[in-house]
Amino acid sequence: MIKVAVNGYGTIGKRVADAVSCQPDMEIIGVSKTKPGAEAYVAKERGYPLYIADISKKDAFIKAGIPVAGSVEEMIQKADIIVDATPGGIGEGNKPLYEKYNRKAIWEGGEEHSVAGFSFNSSCNYEQAIGRQFARVVSCNTTGLCRIIHLIDSVFGVKKVRATMIRRGGDPGDIKRGPIDAIVLNPVTIPSHHGPDVQSVLPEINIITSAMIVPTTLMHMHFINMELKNPATREQVLDLIKAHSRLGLISKSTGITSTAQLKEYTSDLLRSRGDLWENGIFEESVSVLDGGTDLYLFQAIHQEADVVVETVDCIRAMSGDVKTAMESIAITNKAVGLTAIR
Ligand code: NAD
Repeated sequence: MIKVAVNGYGTIGKRVADAVSCQPDMEIIGVSKTKPGAEAYVAKERGYPLYIADISKKDAFIKAGIPVAGSVEEMIQKADIIVDATPGGIGEGNKPLYEKYNRKAIWEGGEEHSVAGFSFNSSCNYEQAIGRQFARVVSCNTTGLCRIIHLIDSVFGVKKVRATMIRRGGDPGDIKRGPIDAIVLNPVTIPSHHGPDVQSVLPEINIITSAMIVPTTLMHMHFINMELKNPATREQVLDLIKAHSRLGLISKSTGITSTAQLKEYTSDLLRSRGDLWENGIFEESVSVLDGGTDLYLFQAIHQEADVVVETVDCIRAMSGDVKTAMESIAITNKAVGLTAIR
């Protein structure tokens, strides 16, 4: 069993912990929090040993009825691999600790590519992660872009990608995030950082991105246009999407045309936390124009969920026992309950 520690038990960390603990080849040996609170109670309920970044705060946890297993430094020593899901920018500061104990570590998309020197996506570069000490799982938006771009590029060749991200203002629990009543250009300049982030996984892809933030918490929405090197038919593209387990195709018959209905659907399907781990591609939006070389689609990306299954695959790749992406993706999907939403 691969012993996994989650440093930073928040939006992503708590999902990674649950996804890891249901895998047949992994176990959670500890999770960490900085303050006692609702998520610390949940960790206790789940039976995850709780470690704290600042051990001088131990009394506050004990007073709140939450047992403390030790310091983060102690947790790291017990793990084979650490998933650092602390807020963006904090994780980089933890690197010396992982180096000190010669542990493998994975950072999430809030950190720069340079922190690990390798950016991961299961469908694109699983094999390159095998045996590595450090990796970064790219952000939710970049994960969603990489999955579909790589698939289309591998079959038809992609000349150029243009993509606009309509981003959620915050996660559902983020009561201090906004906007409340605005469409915020983020950034106002073009291109946004998402294109270069895709190139950290797929360096050969020519891509220009733009982004704005809107008052919603549920999911992001992408509008993607790909200019293809070789012509495709709509049916060929739909067949490829259907065959890819991390690309969900939302069929016309569901009547779903929004992120709100999609989130309701995944909740009704009794997905853990209503999570959509795959891209939510709207079947009706998939259009191939201009003689087959101009592809358009809309896809919903559940920011809290898509990177979670990728992180599980990244753990498996770095541990080295499972040699192919296909094998790992199948194990991960089965364990979390990812079956086709269409
Ligand atoms: P979060 O704020 O929800 O959770 C972070 C957790 O880390 C909190 O529980 C906090 O208590 C804890 N923490 C803070 N400082 C710590 C420290 N020094 N040591 C240990 N724990 C500490 O953040 P999140 O949204 O889960 O983001 C985590 C990472 O995942 C970031 O890199 C982020 O960019 C990335 N990410 C977030 C999303 C998203 O939509 N939330 C999507 C994809 C990737």
